[in-house]
Amino acid sequence: MPNSTAPKNAAPNSTLTPPGDGHDPYAALLDQAVSISRRYLAEIPERFAGVTPEALANFPKFAGPLPTRGLDPHETLALLEQFGGPGTVASTGGRYFGGVIGGALPVTVAANWISVAWDQNAALFDFSPISAYLEDVVFSWLFEIFGLPATSGGCLTTGTQMADVAALAAARTHVLRQVGYDLERQGLFGAPPITILVGDEVHVTMPKALAILGFGAAQIRRIPVDGQGRMIPSHIPQIAADAAKSLHLDPASAPLILCVQVGNVNTGACDPIREICEITRKHNPNAWIHVDGAFGLWAAASPGRKHLVEGLPLADSFATDAHKWLNVPYDSGICMVRHRDPLRRAMAITAAYLGDTDKNREPMKWGPDSSRSARAIEIWAALRTLGTEGVAELIERTCAHAATFAKDFREAGYEVLNDVVLNQVLVSFGDDETTNRVVAALQAEGTCWCGATTWKGRRAMRISVSSWATTPADVDRCTRAILAIASNLK
Ligand SMILES: *Cc1c(COP(=O)(O)O)cnc(C)c1O
Repeated sequence: MPNSTAPKNAAPNSTLTPPGDGHDPYAALLDQAVSISRRYLAEIPERFAGVTPEALANFPKFAGPLPTRGLDPHETLALLEQFGGPGTVASTGGRYFGGVIGGALPVTVAANWISVAWDQNAALFDFSPISAYLEDVVFSWLFEIFGLPATSGGCLTTGTQMADVAALAAARTHVLRQVGYDLERQGLFGAPPITILVGDEVHVTMPKALAILGFGAAQIRRIPVDGQGRMIPSHIPQIAADAAKSLHLDPASAPLILCVQVGNVNTGACDPIREICEITRKHNPNAWIHVDGAFGLWAAASPGRKHLVEGLPLADSFATDAHKWLNVPYDSGICMVRHRDPLRRAMAITAAYLGDTDKNREPMKWGPDSSRSARAIEIWAALRTLGTEGVAELIERTCAHAATFAKDFREAGYEVLNDVVLNQVLVSFGDDETTNRVVAALQAEGTCWCGATTWKGRRAMRISVSSWATTPADVDRCTRAILAIASNLK
């Protein structure tokens, strides 16, 4: 644009000036973004783990009237650095133990930047050949890690909740077809009833996933669990039979979907998959068994933990996260199914104008989204650079940190409420009131961030070690901080 009246690089109009004539609209902004990101990440190892009241008080700096004349992009990024960064929790570091929140491996952050620069629409092969291809590679690697047949299928979603939705949509289609009902043609309203079985410790996102799919609370039956939250398989036949009888159906063939959980968000406990699959299939060979393994599924990748998910390939579908234990940036969920057909049926879509040919992977025909980011890139980068040994080491290492926390708290005289089988630790500091006060004081003190939970009627501090970045020194430092707070409150 040689005769443009707008001065080159002048704010604010340069925001809309495309490259050319020596003008590079990316260079200075990306350099600034790299500097901001690197400063942020460099501070993380020593930063306050949560968010301070001062940081929250600055949020209105982002508000105000929508500008009429656009504002300077560099100043916009600077605002994010100055007041946005302090408004983040330090979950990318080694001292954040809330939720089940992993960090992001450095190579996945870098791959994510490249992915954003590529700005690909991963809906179809034609729109982004590389992302469709990487999805195929990623799924073949994931099937290997989880011991699933190479003929399995899957889709990448925002998280486990949406992976549950995708898998259960396939389940719904499948169990209805078995009783001669074509869901895709006839629709859900007026369809034969389906019984859903879940463990009594089912994750909160599962009833929501089921509700999105049209299952009401009364269709969901809960199976009793043991002291660690594991489903007790011997209850399944009776509860399934009662449900079928109440619908005047034959218990041996009534449409049935059973949801297993591996990795309880409080205890880390895993439902016994093999026993559940064997008992359920003996009772009703038509049952579809789905596994919610948002983080626990990754136990399969570790020689020392895989016994916890023994029998996993016997189930029909699986939901897990890459953004939790694999330490990939958000948002990254994974749905896998042993049988491709029901998932393809549930997610079917055709559009001639989009040029989908099915010669290659067409991601939108496998999952709930059409346009979306190329999520495979970060997962591919993580798996390629970790290898199976690296994934195993990541799982083992975080579990070992959890075990150290548990040992240190027990030695200090506090009660650990769960069997620490994975990366989750529940600690009580006495009565509920005292435990709540310790958690609140810790969050205000900032050495690390832990939440509180209620387990079997008792309040507990909840420690989830999910980040690649946590070191033995972090564990030691955090334990000392927590113990100091607890003894001061005595
Ligand atoms: C985290 C979690 C979910 C939900 O996963 P999102 O990625 O938040 O959608 C489901 N189930 C279990 C057991 C979880 O830990």
